[in-house]
Amino acid sequence: MDFFSDYTMTIEGAGVSSAKTFDAVNPATEAVIAAVPDADRAIFDRAVASAKRAFPAWSEKPWRARQDLVSKLGDLIEQNAEDFIRLLTMEQGKARAGAEWEIGGSVAWCREIAKQALEPDMVENTDGRTVETSRTPLGVVGGITPWNFPLLLAVWKVAPALVAGNTIVLKPSPFTPLCTLKFGELTRGVLPAGVLNVISGGNELGEWMTRCEDIRKISFTGSTATGRKIMASASGNLKRITLELGGNDPAIVMPDVDVQATAKELIWAAFQNSAQFCVAAKRLYIHEDIYDALAEALVEYARTVKVGDGLQQGVDLGPIQNAMQFEKLKDLLADSKKNGHRFLLGGQIEDGPGYFVPVTIIDNPPEDSRVVTEEAFGPVLPLLKFRDTEDVIRRANDTEYGLAASIWSADADRARNIAQRIEAGTVWINEIHTFSPHVAFGGHKQSGIGIENSLHGLAEYTNSKTIVTNRMAPVS
Ligand code: NAD
Repeated sequence: MDFFSDYTMTIEGAGVSSAKTFDAVNPATEAVIAAVPDADRAIFDRAVASAKRAFPAWSEKPWRARQDLVSKLGDLIEQNAEDFIRLLTMEQGKARAGAEWEIGGSVAWCREIAKQALEPDMVENTDGRTVETSRTPLGVVGGITPWNFPLLLAVWKVAPALVAGNTIVLKPSPFTPLCTLKFGELTRGVLPAGVLNVISGGNELGEWMTRCEDIRKISFTGSTATGRKIMASASGNLKRITLELGGNDPAIVMPDVDVQATAKELIWAAFQNSAQFCVAAKRLYIHEDIYDALAEALVEYARTVKVGDGLQQGVDLGPIQNAMQFEKLKDLLADSKKNGHRFLLGGQIEDGPGYFVPVTIIDNPPEDSRVVTEEAFGPVLPLLKFRDTEDVIRRANDTEYGLAASIWSADADRARNIAQRIEAGTVWINEIHTFSPHVAFGGHKQSGIGIENSLHGLAEYTNSKTIVTNRMAPVS
């Protein structure tokens, strides 16, 4: 199989192309790297019908058989890891270390989710009467993914959906469809036909999915704005929804930290994946006692981070993934400049090719400035000064988002007290971005609805079903 040409969709276990295509662009060079099939309505309907046909046999397979096949998906990714890493860098832009992390994570997630099962719960088992609650699959699931971690976030949906007994129609972002299409191709002949269908197209294809009567659940990762639309249109047949949306995560740095060591952690916390990370530290609250020293250490370390084409050796951070996001960031930087914010580093965008934004650090802009209140989704980090713990908790929570947060302090108990008052689905203390297939992940407020990972996440791909049996009733 050639990873670098012939991109086709996977429906009913076979390759499908389309009359229309769209371009995939390498964001580091702006070169067109592939023609991507653009599914029309008829192709979409075929994909859903294929998933629907495959559902009865798949859902009736024992958990163990489904687990084994999902684990096998991890083997397939691992066997093709080098090609996936290269293709991921070409289509997404991320540097090698980031691509290795994503592909390695995809393997691990398949294997670990494949160890999960939802056992029936015998609530009552007395003479002649049993009450048993079990979990049953939903049917056809629609998976819709964004462009920042295209394969990993697809696996976060495919693995639990299939283990729980559903079949799936998966739609990658039109900006990063290539790894997902090749993943679909690899599964042909491994999974029963129709269990996993991968189709590519624009946002309209996503809308068809959310309105489709035959799709019982949408599992979506992307922006809050799109999440709202999905919630509205999924109401037609009361689809189940899991929405993993945007964030504007605060990092709170207490005055007792080791400044130099923490600076390094914070730079990666903020800029990993060129800050195109839902849980990047996006507002950095620093206690006034160490503000100047930490700001200096951050700038000094950030200067050592190399931004460039992710395929080149020695590059740490790649470009912004697409022109639309690149323009948004230019606009955000222009707003900061117009408002006289002080740039400690970066802020200047060089002429292309490539959608490159330098690592940018802004010195204590006003709390209500756009660079603080908006999710930048790019390497632009505001440093914010605080004195009082109550004040910083209030400011950290003063956002419509509630995805994650981090607290940095030598006093872990004190940090934990703060963590308990932060409105977010995950709060890390003295570490960040440690995910696990067995740990629940999900947003509060407008960062989402529902959970991914862990048995809670698996349960979201099921209905609860209770059977009450009375063997002593007079009817028998
Ligand atoms: P996006 O919402 O623009 O697109 C995501 C996906 O939704 C794409 O596949 C797109 O084609 C599809 N889509 C667009 N309009 C649709 C519609 N009306 N109906 C159905 N589908 C539609 O998001 P993006 O720009 O690709 O991703 C960036 C956003 O994702 C950021 O806000 C980021 O914080 C968020 N994100 C969240 C998480 C998380 O786990 N919470 C993880 C990664 C990214």
